[in-house]
Amino acid sequence: MVHPTVPQPTLAPSAVFDWLDEAADLRARAGLTRTLRSRPADDPVLDLASNDYLGLVHHPAVTGAAAEAARRWGGGATGSRLVTGTTALHTELEDELAEFCGFEAALVFSTGYAANLAALTALTDPDTLIVSDAYNHASLIDGCRLARSDVHRAPHADPDAVREVLATRSHRRALVVTDSVFSVDGNAAPLAGHCAAARAHGAALLVDDAHGLGVLGDGGRGTLAVADLAGAPDTVATVTLSKSLGSQGGAVLGPRRVIRHLTETARTFIFDTGLAPAAAGTALGALRLLRAEPHRAARARELAHTLAARLTAAGLHASTPDAAVVSVRAPGPEAAVQWAADCRTAGLAVGCFRPPSVPDGISRLRLTARGDLTDAQITEAVRIIAATGPA
Ligand code: PMP
Repeated sequence: MVHPTVPQPTLAPSAVFDWLDEAADLRARAGLTRTLRSRPADDPVLDLASNDYLGLVHHPAVTGAAAEAARRWGGGATGSRLVTGTTALHTELEDELAEFCGFEAALVFSTGYAANLAALTALTDPDTLIVSDAYNHASLIDGCRLARSDVHRAPHADPDAVREVLATRSHRRALVVTDSVFSVDGNAAPLAGHCAAARAHGAALLVDDAHGLGVLGDGGRGTLAVADLAGAPDTVATVTLSKSLGSQGGAVLGPRRVIRHLTETARTFIFDTGLAPAAAGTALGALRLLRAEPHRAARARELAHTLAARLTAAGLHASTPDAAVVSVRAPGPEAAVQWAADCRTAGLAVGCFRPPSVPDGISRLRLTARGDLTDAQITEAVRIIAATGPA
């Protein structure tokens, strides 16, 4: 078909990106400007913003493993995993992670984001219906967009709605997708309900356990272990190595045949440079530490409850934590930004989540109850948050 030619505006090269400034103005007017700030190495701030849930990122056993890995294997992976990018560290990490979490096998990716894209695109086809929780992480949403499948956005944490859409589908296959613990409020998904719905209708279950690994379950074995789904033949988990394991990277865990299929077909595995050896070594060091010191997971959970209880006692709208994340509601995006900035000035770093990072449009401060914080630090954090909060 021949398209009629439409007169194109003549634009000077210097004006081609003018529309980006207009878009930035719109974001600024909605209070949604985002800025980068580099973090000093010796920042004295009390940090309740990072995802270093177990406080391992500076642990000498972990940084030592990173340094040793870089010395032995070099600064980068040098190629994709199927060419030169797989070292003994990658395979040890895969074996130990699978064993720790209770799955047959694991495959390591350069990020958790890439692991989610891989699982969603490789385990689906045009005859698959993906049923995705409305509050799922952006990487799961993007995986749904990349998959050549129909996607149904299910109401948040509603297994009955999942069951209904599965029952009335015309697709041969189906995949139910959910975060295990939702990133901002830290609430857990109803996994038993999702699993029952999936099993009643021959669907597979994909669970992103980014916020559960290292925090939930015996010694931090993750949400799937708690739900008795680790190693199930119809269940696949994804994790990031960048939160409780204090590194970078991600992994998919599941039945051996799923991992083989991903290894041979997942585009974010095949066409991406392998995870840097230092990152693999870091994650392996952290995982071994977690096994040697299993109390760390319970400590993070306990601190999260203490933090939420004290925020509530101070009159704030705190979430009920199911893992290490606690959120506090803010009246609006600008108020949230100001609140987080005032906390920073008072010596406390907190996360600030505004639309579109929060699907319900309600802005929040996001706090992480890092397992290495002291009781006095929790008290101080609550004092600052209450003192700086909107009247
Ligand atoms: N899933 C969830 C639920 C996350 O919170 C994140 C990180 N913010 C990711 C996946 C992506 O992991 P990574 O940062 O390793 O790409």
